[in-house]
Amino acid sequence: MIVYMTHKGGKYFPVDESLKLDATTPRGLYVNLTNRCNCDCVFCLRQKKSMAKSSSLWLEREPTVDEVKAELDRAPWHLVTELVFCGFGEPTIRLDALVELLTYAKKIRPTLPTRLNTNGLGELYHGREIASNFAGILDTASISLNAATAERYFKLTRATYGLKSFDAMLTFAEHMKIFVPHVVLTVVDKVTSPEEISACQKICDERNLTLRVRPYEDS
Ligand code: SF4
Repeated sequence: MIVYMTHKGGKYFPVDESLKLDATTPRGLYVNLTNRCNCDCVFCLRQKKSMAKSSSLWLEREPTVDEVKAELDRAPWHLVTELVFCGFGEPTIRLDALVELLTYAKKIRPTLPTRLNTNGLGELYHGREIASNFAGILDTASISLNAATAERYFKLTRATYGLKSFDAMLTFAEHMKIFVPHVVLTVVDKVTSPEEISACQKICDERNLTLRVRPYEDS
C-alpha cells in the first residue's frame, strides 16, 4: 500500500477502501515510500516480521516517484487535511524521492500542509546536512525523540550508528528549525515515565525545540 488514510483506533486503509468506509470526514493522506530503516526499534511492528509482512504497509518493492505521483493525482483532495510521509520505514532514506514528491505536492496543492514523520537520522545516513532540502516544501517535521539520554535512546532504537545517533538526531532537529516552520520532537506517554518526559522537556528547552507527548493510542 503506497498511499493510505487512517481511521479511529489507529487503523489504516488504502484510499479506495477508506472512502467506502467514510466518504465525508476530512483526514490525512499518508505516503509510504520505503520499508528500509536505519533503526531497529524494540517497539516497531517491523520487528514482528510475520505481522509486518502480512500488513498492507509492507511493500513488496518500493514505489517509483511516478507511481506515487499517479496516486497523488487521483487522491480525494477535497477530504485531505494534511499530506504525511510516514509508513513502515524511514522516509529520509529515499531523500531524492521524498523531496521530489513534496515539491510535486506543493505544486498541485499549494495550500495543503505537508508533514514528515522521521527518526531524525537522515543526516547521519547521508553523511551531510539535509535539512535545507526541505525549505519551502515541508510544513511540519515530527521527529521521534524517544528518550532523554543517548544510552536509553540507543537501547530503544538500536540505531545503526550507535550512541552518537541521539545527538545527531537533536542536531538534525535544530537544522530543520531553520528551514521548516514547525518542528516537533515526540515521546509517547505511558511507555515514557513522567521523570523521563520532564528530562526530555529540559533537553528541548535547552535547544529551543518543541516537545509533543503523543498519546500511546496513536502509536
Ligand atoms: S524508526 Fe520507525 S520504522 Fe524505524 S525501526 Fe523505529 S519505529 Fe520502526
